[in-house]
Amino acid sequence: MDVVIFIVVGLVVLLAAGLLVGVSMRGRPAPPAGPPTIRRGGLGTRVRSILRGAPGDEEWAALEESLVGADAGTVAAREIVGRVRHRWEPGADPEQLLIEELVKMFDGDPPLDLPPDLAVVMVVGVNGTGKTTTIGKLAKRLAGEGRSVAVAASDTFRAGATEQLGTWAERAGAHFVAQARGADPGAVAHDAVQAARARGHDALIVDTAGRIHTKQPLMEELRKVKRVLTKAAEKDPDEVLLVVDATTGQNGIAQARTFLEAVEVTGIALTKLDGAARGGVVLAIRKELGVPVKLVGTGESIEDLRPFDPETFARSLMRD
Ligand code: GDP
Repeated sequence: MDVVIFIVVGLVVLLAAGLLVGVSMRGRPAPPAGPPTIRRGGLGTRVRSILRGAPGDEEWAALEESLVGADAGTVAAREIVGRVRHRWEPGADPEQLLIEELVKMFDGDPPLDLPPDLAVVMVVGVNGTGKTTTIGKLAKRLAGEGRSVAVAASDTFRAGATEQLGTWAERAGAHFVAQARGADPGAVAHDAVQAARARGHDALIVDTAGRIHTKQPLMEELRKVKRVLTKAAEKDPDEVLLVVDATTGQNGIAQARTFLEAVEVTGIALTKLDGAARGGVVLAIRKELGVPVKLVGTGESIEDLRPFDPETFARSLMRD
């Protein structure tokens, strides 16, 4: 009898130990599955190799991971892969399917569309993203379309900001409105609208401060500039463009969120697409924040600004 009790107790102890090991293993991260994701660079080769033959759950998951690795964000990546998977059939061209689904993410997005009378464009963004350069390029582009352009320096905080913007305005052949450093940004914005009206300009681009974007006072300042512009022009700004640096990856989303909370951003100007970054972050911005991309910066010279073209973007994301 004692022997039987001994055996039963022994079995129970063994079983409990087994269960404990099982539970503790479950908490551990799974070993890495499949090849590592590509943080930067083209998706084309990877897509072709993942979707060779008959892709299963693992392959589709790897494709999703690749998109996340290209800065698309998890929500957009999941949606895109879901759509590609739905359309997939043996013999399909995986790259082409992916390009088509990437392009669809931007279906119906409005381009930069300014009214013929005084068009007011407010430009916001963190310092260093390329705000000044983009304003210069946009002024040049609008002037090239036959508009008479004025540029206003409402970033009165940053040392050298006014001078730098003045140089770009001159290059673009735009009229420049500025006040002394430390002046009230709202006052500059107000004067700029008055000056633009008085001088008969039909486009006004207003720069704003971009420092300490996570701190409340700057966001309040932006709200105030927008209010002043709305009052002076008797309408909301026609565009509030947020400048996002493509090389900042997912950080661009955090930035966009902060600015969106302060002012109603109507479009993104994505800069530095000529560098290593392919701008996958716009998929995340588009999907998670619902803001259309309107312009892309492709270099440091005044001509390097283009309307955003989803097809070109999708193809460049694929390129190796
Ligand atoms: P701000 O601080 O946001 O006004 O940024 P700037 O306009 O001064 O630009 C910061 C740096 O980014 C400068 O060296 C610009 O030449 C550079 N930059 C801006 N746009 C682009 C772009 O589209 N491509 C590249 N390669 N550089 C850019």
